[in-house]
Amino acid sequence: MKIAVLVLLLVIGMYFIGIAGYRHVSLTNTWQAYDCNDVCLNNLLAENEDIHTIVKVRYLGVGALDIRYKHYRILSDPFYTSHGIWDVLTASSLKSDQHQIAKVLGPPRQNVDAVIVGHGHYDHIADLPALKGYLKADARILGSPTSLNMIHSVFPNSTFIPIPAESLDRQWNYIADGWIRMKGVPSEHAPQLLSINLIQGEVHNPSDRPPESAFQWKQGANINWVIDFLDGSYSNSDERVTANNILKRIFLQTSAADFPIGLPTLTDQKNFDLAIIAAASFDNADHYPAGLIKQLQPQTLMYCHWENFFQPWWNQPTPLPLLNMDKLLRTSHQADKGMAVLVPLPGSWLAL
Ligand SMILES: [Zn+2]
Repeated sequence: MKIAVLVLLLVIGMYFIGIAGYRHVSLTNTWQAYDCNDVCLNNLLAENEDIHTIVKVRYLGVGALDIRYKHYRILSDPFYTSHGIWDVLTASSLKSDQHQIAKVLGPPRQNVDAVIVGHGHYDHIADLPALKGYLKADARILGSPTSLNMIHSVFPNSTFIPIPAESLDRQWNYIADGWIRMKGVPSEHAPQLLSINLIQGEVHNPSDRPPESAFQWKQGANINWVIDFLDGSYSNSDERVTANNILKRIFLQTSAADFPIGLPTLTDQKNFDLAIIAAASFDNADHYPAGLIKQLQPQTLMYCHWENFFQPWWNQPTPLPLLNMDKLLRTSHQADKGMAVLVPLPGSWLAL
């Protein structure tokens, strides 16, 4: 009954959003999306002196990223198959499209070292069960217990690194033969619509098959990530890593939250080369993103989760309905005038 009321509210809300959505937000009139294809990436790499310390980040839409460092590869929030709003609201089975996945990730070559998941909503995880052919035999999946319980039947137990509440903002997890480390930071999820946070809840036990409908993918805990790219191979208990050993540092937040929730505690002086944060629902979170920007002071800020994911977003993305991009970008520049701010087209590369 409760879900039925929520669905009704959502349908009504989407109806109005559909009318108001595209008029005042334009990709071209007031702001430019960042576009960097493979050729552009090669030019960026050619300019760079030390190819071995470069971190490459490719935006794939919503919270999905493809991050490369040396020969290692990390994916975040795997979601590449678009599902129409009607299929989502009517709790239809959301099938992964292997053709679309291959278009986005390339053919499956078992070369992914790790997958990180910010929370369990379908638009952050639903294509993960379809990624078996992409993961190395010793790959790791990091996420909340809820996220991992939902996909438990698909991968061997040894794949999972659950990040329980008590280890958040404490423990570094070393992956990619110890060349990359990441720390989960406790965060929250701003309401999507009319102050309602849809599809909350936890999954406490391993499921015997992955969820099918959007309503079965439960949110669970929300996790932000600090990702450090290191100058050598280190291990989990290693105390030797100092700011000097961290070549590049990225902050990732794939759902908006009231500031200062989601802010990492860091004792070293290493700065953030890049912060990737969610645009969606920014207006429903207090002091977001200004508080975060002032605190993190990243060299570059990149917005993810900005495009309308209820339609295929890969070729002709449009901003999410009701997302006031002008206000978001204005607020971002006011918070830090020296920082580069990017709204990437899906498929765009960035080189750090
Ligand atoms: Zn969500």
